Amino acid sequence: MFTRILRKLTLMNSVVFILIFLVFGATLYSYVRSQLFENIDKSMRDRISSFRVVNGRPDVTLRRSIFFDPRVIMLLRDASGQVVILTPFSSEEGDNLKTLAAQLETGSLTVTTYADHIYRVLCLPYQYEEKVLFRSDGSKVLEIEEVIAVSIVDSEVAMLGNLLIIIACGLFAGSVVIGLAGYYLARLALVPIQKAWERQQQFVADASHELRTPLAVVKTNAEIMLRHPENTVEQESSRVTNILREAIRMNKLVSTLLTLARADANQLELQLKACMVDDVVETVAEQFRPLFEIKGLELHVNIEPQIEITGDRERLHQLMVILLDNALKYTVPPGQITITCSRLQNQVLLKVADTGCGILPEDLARIFDRFFRGDKARHRETGGAGLGLSIAQWIVEKHGGRIRVESVPNVGTQFYITLPVKSKV
Ligand code: ADP
Repeated sequence: MFTRILRKLTLMNSVVFILIFLVFGATLYSYVRSQLFENIDKSMRDRISSFRVVNGRPDVTLRRSIFFDPRVIMLLRDASGQVVILTPFSSEEGDNLKTLAAQLETGSLTVTTYADHIYRVLCLPYQYEEKVLFRSDGSKVLEIEEVIAVSIVDSEVAMLGNLLIIIACGLFAGSVVIGLAGYYLARLALVPIQKAWERQQQFVADASHELRTPLAVVKTNAEIMLRHPENTVEQESSRVTNILREAIRMNKLVSTLLTLARADANQLELQLKACMVDDVVETVAEQFRPLFEIKGLELHVNIEPQIEITGDRERLHQLMVILLDNALKYTVPPGQITITCSRLQNQVLLKVADTGCGILPEDLARIFDRFFRGDKARHRETGGAGLGLSIAQWIVEKHGGRIRVESVPNVGTQFYITLPVKSKV
């Protein structure tokens, strides 16, 4: 499945890269083109607007002016379409230009190919009062209606052609690099998706595995009871108890799984309100006190009063239950459990420490993973499915806080939680 997605993503990335390259190439080409022709057009426009007849002859001062561009060929046209060429030119090309100029529309700017040359031609109306041009012998040449400027743009067009070839070659050679870059980016994008997918698969497999044992216990006990229909409930009480215990375990597991699934789908939102953390911690501690006492454990509570934060009271309660339940499960008498809660600037520091069995160093990084249990055989008896700390972490992080653990095997474990006073979530 991922190979197909990888292929598709690579293709999509490459297409996007090629499009970017094409847009860049087109922009570069049109910029160079406009720059080249802008200069030529300006020269032609300047020469047309500054051309005038003085005393029946072209104004000679023009040749010395800054507007004079020797590449621009000047032609004049009268109302009947007759054309004279002002610039000395080879007769064949001069004739070509005259034919071309005779057909031009006033105000037009065109690019035309004639024989081996490419011409850029601008035709504008003559704007001065003295219109008649005379020869040196006094005979009339023509009455000027339009002035036409022509420029040979062979080199500019050749340069643009070369630029186009360079862009095309760049695109061709670059497509290999583009393909590789597209593949690399696609792989990079797929890594977190693949990991999430694998985590999800693992989650489903672990959940099914966890449900299989209690279901098997229920099924076996029910089957044994069916073999002796004459037995009373009292006689079968141990089997009924087994079924009930497993049903309660499954119920707890399923509701925990539902919480995690909703959390993953972002459907579970915190009910954020002003709440007194000290009160929540105190309440849960007092609920656990008799359980600790029965097990022969000492509970020390050190809570600063009046710590108000913006948080979800129910979820903070659940967090404390998870931590104290673990402390109860994993501490053997005569052990001690210490709860500390204090405020430091904009944060609340919460610490739950026990003198229990501790966590192996190699397990420390994994205890927040779903379904992770330090010692599976031992913990099956204590009833944990390895989901408590995942939920604890979700609650803390949803409040914008952090949870970390320190532990030494056979010495004890400390959970440190920091919660912001004002949650941004
Ligand atoms: P469980 O339901 O198994 O307790 P948790 O997610 O709450 O699941 O904890 C995961 C694992 O972390 C436990 O199986 C245990 O190995 C370890 N652990 C958690 N809290 C403690 C603790 N206070 N002392 C020792 N080990 C702990």
